Amino acid sequence: MNGVMAAPRAEVVIDLDNLRHNVEYLARLASRAETMVVVKADGYGHGAVEVARAALEAGATWLGSCSLAEALVLRAAGISAPVLSWLDPAGTDYAPGVEAGVDLSVSSLRQLAAVAEAARGVGRPARVHLKIDTGLSRNGSRPDEWGALVEKAAATPEVRVHAVWSHLAVADEIGHPATDAQAERFDDAYREAVAAGLDPIRHLANSAAVLTRPDLHFDLVRPGIAAYGLNPVPEPFDLRPVMTFRSSVALAKRIPAGESVSYGMSWTAKTGTTVALVPVGYADGVPRTLSNRMHVWLAGARRPVVGRVCMDQVVVDCGDDPVAEGDEVVLFGAGTHGEPTAREWADITGTIDYEIVTGMYRPRVTRTYR
Ligand SMILES: *Cc1c(COP(=O)(O)O)cnc(C)c1O
Repeated sequence: MNGVMAAPRAEVVIDLDNLRHNVEYLARLASRAETMVVVKADGYGHGAVEVARAALEAGATWLGSCSLAEALVLRAAGISAPVLSWLDPAGTDYAPGVEAGVDLSVSSLRQLAAVAEAARGVGRPARVHLKIDTGLSRNGSRPDEWGALVEKAAATPEVRVHAVWSHLAVADEIGHPATDAQAERFDDAYREAVAAGLDPIRHLANSAAVLTRPDLHFDLVRPGIAAYGLNPVPEPFDLRPVMTFRSSVALAKRIPAGESVSYGMSWTAKTGTTVALVPVGYADGVPRTLSNRMHVWLAGARRPVVGRVCMDQVVVDCGDDPVAEGDEVVLFGAGTHGEPTAREWADITGTIDYEIVTGMYRPRVTRTYR
């Protein structure tokens, strides 16, 4: 490289200052509760270990993982804060989790037995969070099986029940009556647990509920997306997007009027224009459905991507403006300078920004921390 830094091909830049800001802000909004930052799916594509460390610096006291494997990645990195793991397939050996002091979610008698067996093998009790399904119909015990679950858990010496918890289905729709119905079922489940002799903490709130339902913060809140600076509700909050996706111009050239661009020739220049080739495509997380429907930030302006998004490249129409090879191209970022956002991509493609940022976890995309 002759000591010269190459311009990036496909790079996500993770702004950990923004992440810390968001976590501090969320922890302040939920100051009567503790804060678990959810770092599943490699930290929503931001890097679980780096995010976890920054979140703990900023006031989070818990981490949330989808699976035991994800939780053990945090432990292997030397992170000793409480971690809850909530979704593993039947037959999972929980012993490494118990050994590593990972809190385990339990939704059924079968899971309780598997965790208890692991704890017996390891020779220390497992800390569990009993999950009640209050209306999402995904994970969690059915209400009619809950009584048996809490009684069995209370009578199982190998497990210590630390929490009763559940997950909300429509907290992002402010004022939706189903959230109150879920809260009522949650309250019933908690009372049953207490009646069974347990003394658990409670947690229910995802990002949307952290932001809009202080009455549902209980003892612990579980924000994910908001920690990454993306707002799941229509009301404004002081959240700063953490991920920027950038590349650089690999080639810039003039093409005359009448020339077409990219596979299928779906765009044709009306006048002579300068086109910039940017070496990122759908293999790097640029949805092909954004063909002729997206902009990038390049040389101080928003400019349209013209023609099809290819596997490895897109072409940007720069008109008569000066553009040079090596110029930075921002695919999406915080939006504060006019650059597109992950939300903008999600709105155009009919998805949510969660899927956009999580989809940036790809071997070809390098990740840099700032
Ligand atoms: C993903 C997840 C969260 C975080 O949800 P956000 O909407 O990203 O805040 C919280 N709890 C559970 C169980 C989850 O699976």
